Amino acid sequence: MKKKLVVGNWKMNGSLAANQALIEALLAGVGAPACGVAVCVPAPYWAQAQDLLASSAIDLGAQDVSQHAVGAFTGELSAAMLKEFGVRYAIVGHSERRLYHGETDAVVAAKTQAALANGITPIVCVGETLAEREAGHTEEVVKRQLAAVVHTNGHCISEIVLAYEPVWAIGTGKTATPEQAQQVHALLRAQLHAASNQSDRIQILYGGSMNAANAAQLLAQPDIDGGLVGGAALKAADFLAIIAAA
Ligand code: PGA
Repeated sequence: MKKKLVVGNWKMNGSLAANQALIEALLAGVGAPACGVAVCVPAPYWAQAQDLLASSAIDLGAQDVSQHAVGAFTGELSAAMLKEFGVRYAIVGHSERRLYHGETDAVVAAKTQAALANGITPIVCVGETLAEREAGHTEEVVKRQLAAVVHTNGHCISEIVLAYEPVWAIGTGKTATPEQAQQVHALLRAQLHAASNQSDRIQILYGGSMNAANAAQLLAQPDIDGGLVGGAALKAADFLAIIAAA
């Protein structure tokens, strides 16, 4: 059976003091987890997190990566830079970046390739808005978003992690029901299967108000291979409970 993966997305939260307390509490409680675990911290704290997480069961992740390799791109952070800080995962195409930073499917695909070319595992996010769901367009939207990254230019699609994050469930406390999530995960699984004979290896995470109370039910679904956790990843006890449920 494929190992599950639980990833914390801290978003724009934290400080040197808060990060240290959170990471120390996670390390004290995580033990030898049955699943993979990572925390995606804000870029200025990569070095701090790299030190604190050294030779632990918790991997370091970034929340974004540039599609460009080097040069005049003010404010951008390259995959090679992530690599220097021991970053293993990079979230790509999070809905907040698609929405607030105008990231298109093409940009998300380019970022996915930049990560893969540098040995960073992209966590590619797809998901529909509430309006899209209510209009009956969920399937069309997530399939289009996934189709954009399926051709990864010399890299196998099986090297990515996929995350289904319904936009209406992010930070709202409105989790998708396990059935709603499973339904979309199954669609994505079928699309991956059509694209790669290695598709069974690909972890498909669910994200959107996953918490200590609902994680076990979501993670019990056959095509839910882990979680991408925002708010609940900022409290050690909650994040540890989700890890235990996986
Ligand atoms: P949430 O965020 O768990 O706070 O809903 C998830 C995410 O945006 O990755």
